[in-house]
Amino acid sequence: LWAQSLKILEDDLNDQQFHTWILPLRAIEDKDTIRLIAPSTFILDWVNKRLMDNVRQAVARVAPINTPEVIIEMGDYALNDFEEDSQPTVPQPLKEKNKPAPRKNEAGQSGIQSNLNTNFTFDTFVQGKANQLAAAAARQVAENPGGSYNPFFIYGGVGLGKTHLMHAIGNQLLADNPKARVVYLHSERFVQDMVNALRHNKIDEFKRFYRSLDALLIDDIQFFANKEQSQEEFFHTFNTLLEGNKQVILTSDRFPKEVDGLEDRLKSRFGWGLTIAVEPPEFEMRVAILLKKASEYNISLSEEVAFFIAKRLRGNVRDLEGALKRVDAFAQFSNRRPITVETVKEALKDLLALQQKMVTLDNIQKTVADYYKIRVADLHSKRRSRNVARPRQIAMAIAKELTNHSLPEIGDAFGGRDHTTVLHAVRKIKELRETEHQLDDDYNSLIRIITN
Ligand code: ADP
Ligand code: MG
Repeated sequence: LWAQSLKILEDDLNDQQFHTWILPLRAIEDKDTIRLIAPSTFILDWVNKRLMDNVRQAVARVAPINTPEVIIEMGDYALNDFEEDSQPTVPQPLKEKNKPAPRKNEAGQSGIQSNLNTNFTFDTFVQGKANQLAAAAARQVAENPGGSYNPFFIYGGVGLGKTHLMHAIGNQLLADNPKARVVYLHSERFVQDMVNALRHNKIDEFKRFYRSLDALLIDDIQFFANKEQSQEEFFHTFNTLLEGNKQVILTSDRFPKEVDGLEDRLKSRFGWGLTIAVEPPEFEMRVAILLKKASEYNISLSEEVAFFIAKRLRGNVRDLEGALKRVDAFAQFSNRRPITVETVKEALKDLLALQQKMVTLDNIQKTVADYYKIRVADLHSKRRSRNVARPRQIAMAIAKELTNHSLPEIGDAFGGRDHTTVLHAVRKIKELRETEHQLDDDYNSLIRIITN
């Protein structure tokens, strides 16, 4: 039954949901129950919270009569080796707990160069809704390298912390076991090294080296696109490592299947382990990042100012960091002015103007209407049916969040509505986002589309 249900779920869910949350589950079936075993608590929680309805519906469709009950629980995954063709499930500990301080960015006790940046650790990584899962998974990989999250694949836009997180795992592995053979490489470097090895007749050495590692971290694998020979070599290295229960960690700017110019067999293997996205930081996280970075760089930044910047700049983490440095430099050069909201306004004048210009009420309405496949005129109209009323409220809430327009101004732009209607919409949407995940996801997607 579960095998059939999986087929339905594969159709119902998007690729990422299916691969990340459903495939890792193992099923134990008897006549009236399907017991799903989750390999970790966060997969358990996630499926429980967001996908159980889909799962139950799929099972009910396969077995409409005598539908078995579906239970999900944590499992000792390693003991249940159900499928031959699955990823290695027996974790191979890489740990020897005798912690000397990690070597800094140089050849460790293994004698090989790890290329790890020791500043990129879990301690310096700020967590928020946008990267919580990625961070939790990364910690698990660091704790149990070569375990069930192999390969571990992190994807997402630029400046969202993929490289940082990858290094954090590497640094943790070395801290736990200084002898571990951990290597970080940008994919372009891998290609270059391979070309050099070929040129100097050292390809066997090259192969032996990469296949001897305990953990291989390859960044930005989208740069492998259309480099057939490198893909071929990487494919074999990758398989050797996986077969030996060695950890492979990869990043890319998009979901593996969507990387153009990558062989299908590679794409499909990349999905064998755990694939997780990092999202752009939400407001709270942007504040936390600004405060954390300020304290790292010894910049005195009040919460009020951090709020101000976070409210107005919604870019990625790297942009936030850049803005902070600019504000600091500006303050230094203007006779060491303290960093106030006024200072920030001046220092970031062009950036702030740019953000303002992009986000207009028209733009918001058009984007929301497109998203929900309704007409902009519906947002102005008096119609109250749910399929236009809800998007209208969302558009109002977004207008309040993204622009400096007053409530009456926003009401005007929505067919001359009263400011209390706008206020009601803002509150309603806030409340709904807490309980309705779909709506919350839609809201965040819209914000992203509008601000990018
Ligand atoms: P990506 O590889 O996704 O393009 P990086 O890992 O290079 O992004 O991150 C860009 C910069 O932002 C780095 O300086 C990194 O330390 C910082 N950064 C990104 N995400 C976080 C985070 N969650 N907490 C702290 N710093 C972060
Ligand atoms: Mg990167």
